[in-house]
This record gives sequence, structure tokens and C-alpha cells, in this order.
Amino acid sequence: MNDVLPTDSPLWQYFEKQVKAVLDQYGYREIRTPVVEPTELFCRGVGEHTDIVEKEMYTFADRNGESLTLRPEGTASCVRSAIEHGLLHNQQHRLWYQGPMFRYERPQKGRYRQFYQLGVETYGIASADIDAELILMTYRLFKQLGVAESVTLNINTLGSSEARAQYRTALVNYLEGVKDQLDEDSQRRLTTNPMRILDSKSASTQALLDAAPNFDDFIDDESKQHFADLRTILDAAGVPYVVNSRLVRGLDYYTKTVFEWITDALGAQGTVCGGGRYDGLVPMLGGKPTPGSGFAMGIERLLLLLQELNVVPDGIYNTIDLYLVAAGEQAEAVALAVAERIRDALPQARLQANCGGGSFKSQMKKADKSGARFALILGDQEVADKSVQIKDLQGHNEQQASSWDDVAEVLIKLGL
Ligand code: ATP
Ligand code: MG
Repeated sequence: MNDVLPTDSPLWQYFEKQVKAVLDQYGYREIRTPVVEPTELFCRGVGEHTDIVEKEMYTFADRNGESLTLRPEGTASCVRSAIEHGLLHNQQHRLWYQGPMFRYERPQKGRYRQFYQLGVETYGIASADIDAELILMTYRLFKQLGVAESVTLNINTLGSSEARAQYRTALVNYLEGVKDQLDEDSQRRLTTNPMRILDSKSASTQALLDAAPNFDDFIDDESKQHFADLRTILDAAGVPYVVNSRLVRGLDYYTKTVFEWITDALGAQGTVCGGGRYDGLVPMLGGKPTPGSGFAMGIERLLLLLQELNVVPDGIYNTIDLYLVAAGEQAEAVALAVAERIRDALPQARLQANCGGGSFKSQMKKADKSGARFALILGDQEVADKSVQIKDLQGHNEQQASSWDDVAEVLIKLGL
């Protein structure tokens, strides 16, 4: 679990601002749910035989003995909330959330025990256009952030749950015959979650899969049409993608569309965003059948990618425009009052007033270090004249005096 220090928080804020702007462009609305939920929600919603439920949850009994879990992902919580508050009856919703998720995993680059996701969920739309919209929205965000060239969109269809069940049987039949050649993880999954074997990282297992029954032959016609519709829309919009028939995603609840944005710039933890359709989840959690489609983006991985690719705008780390220096007893007495006047007149400027005293020289040093564009200097003489000196700390403008009344105007003329 990481601290985000003040030197790093501008990067988080930059990302959050870009994301919010894109979500607003598409008319998505925010939902905030608690970080703890009854354990049962995730067992049912994520699936008993997923990595998350089998070995990654932070689960504890509260004082009443009720089993609670720190949310490992957001979709189940979002569906729970939507059912509880009646958002799903004859309605369409486009929702987003952002916040910490918790998984007991082995910490490494791009994998943490508390990590942050941006999640987007849509309800009540069964057609492929909404799957495509989710993808277009992420693509727009990636273009805006300057990483679109470095991520590849992988798409696949998992078919209906019936088609998956039939394929699962055929796959298990085949893999039983070569069981002793499978890697250890895949042997275990053969009885718990055989579909996950398809995206095993073991090369020998992947080689065995080449001769396995073909998922494509089992996909139902409706899902095939849905996938064709998705591709048509993506093609029309010019979004590049690859069809990856081994993409199954880690969670149990997907049907039809699944997708991932993958980069090779981050080593092993290359999936920055994953999602898909989950038409079966709402009834599984006690609601009326409602189509759903969504994705989750790993924020740390995306920030790592921004840094790796050197596409973080320089300016974001600068948090101060003006630094007010006050030297002398009378100057110190009125400095904060002058700062307030300037903030009234220039609400968009970020003004830091020197606090804690210090010599003129040491205050000027702090002004330089702050990254401010201008130092505003207040000495006892300036107090007597009701003026400040404006010193350009980065450009070549001559130092000049301005009255307290005019300082906002002068600063704007100087390009603040
Ligand atoms: P992975 O295969 O990387 O474990 P996952 O299938 O478990 O991913 P999801 O549950 O789909 O991941 O979560 C969506 C995104 O959240 C991932 O694509 C990734 O970017 C991010 N993510 C998942 N687990 C972690 C983690 N432990 N630390 C940081 N980011 C994570
Ligand atoms: Mg995982």
C-alpha cells in the first residue's frame, strides 16, 4: 500500500482532471459506494473460483461477527447499489467511480495491495454500440494523455453463458487427456475455473491449447452478431484493435464482449484497462435481468506509463504562481491582508504568502524554490505607500512597483 506524496499528487490530479473531462464529454455520472461490503457480495458477484475470491480478499469479521471485505473491485458494489436504489428498472445508466481497491497480492511494479481504479459501468443497454462507446471513450482518453500509440486494444467474445458452458465441457474433456503436461496452476483450474487456462502464461500450456477445441465453433449466433456489430462500429470510428481469441479476463461474470488495453512498456503488468459485458451479473446479485457493460482502468499502471513514455506535461508540478515576501514588522502585520486583497482580485492565481518570518534574503530564497513566476515584495516602505514590488523570477521583466489596487491588472499585463 503506497503513500502518494505531495511531489506525486500533481500527476494524480492531472490524470483525474483529464478523465473527468472525457467522462463529462460522454455524459457519464459519478457514483460513490463504500469501500467495504458484505463478503458474500464478492463471493457471488466476482465468483468463488476466481483468483480474487480464492486468495486475494481482505476479509474480516466486524464487532457483530458479520463478515466484511475491503472491495477488491468496483463492479459488484456498483450493481449492489443500483439494485438497492432501484436504478435498474426500465432505465439506462452510464456511471463512473474512482477509488481504492484492495487485493492481497505479491507487491511488485504495477501490482499493489491498495491500488486505484477508474471504473465505468453501464446498465440497461444490450446492444454492441455501448460496448463500442466504452472503447471509444478510453481511446479518446489515451489519445489525450499521449499514450494511444503505446497501447493495443485486444477484443474477444465469450459468447452466451450457455455457449461458454458447452465450450467449458469440451475444453475440460480435451485437457483431462493431457492433464499431466499442464502447468500446476492450470491443473488446479481444470476443476475450478478451466476457462482461465486459456490465458495461462505458461508456454507449454499455450502449446497444448493449440490443439484444443476452438472457442469460435461454440459461440452462439447472437453473440457472433454482437461481436460483428462491435467490430463494424470500431472500424467506422477508426479504432485499431486485434482479435485475441484467448482473451478471457479474470472475472467470472463476463458474457459476449471482453476487451483489454495492453502495453509492452511496463513489463509483466501490461494490462492498463480491462472490461466487457456482464449481462448475467445483475440477476446473480438478486436484481431483475439487466444488461451491463463496463471497464476498469488501473490508475497506477497508467501513471507509470505516462512517466515511462515521458508524456507528462512539465507545468503540472508547478503549484504556485505568486510568492508574497514580507520583510519588516509593519509589512508582516499587513501581509496576509494584502494577500487576501490580491486573491479577491485574482481568484485564479495561486498565491503563497510567506509565513514564519525570516530575513528578506531567506524569504526570496523560498520564493525562488517555490517555482512561483513572480515574487511580490512588501517592505515597510511599500506598506507606507500601499504598494508592492513585483519581481519576475523567471522572465526578464524589470522589477516594478504597483499600488495594491492595481497589482492584479499589472500582473495580468505581465502575462500571469
Ligand atoms: P491482472 O491480470 O493484471 O492481475 P486483473 O484481471 O486482475 O489484472 P482487473 O480485475 O480486470 O485486473 O482490474 C482492472 C485493472 O486494474 C487491471 O487491468 C490493472 O490495470 C489494474 N489492477 C488490477 N490489479 C492490480 C493491482 N494489484 N495493482 C495495481 N493495479 C491493478
Ligand atoms: Mg489480478
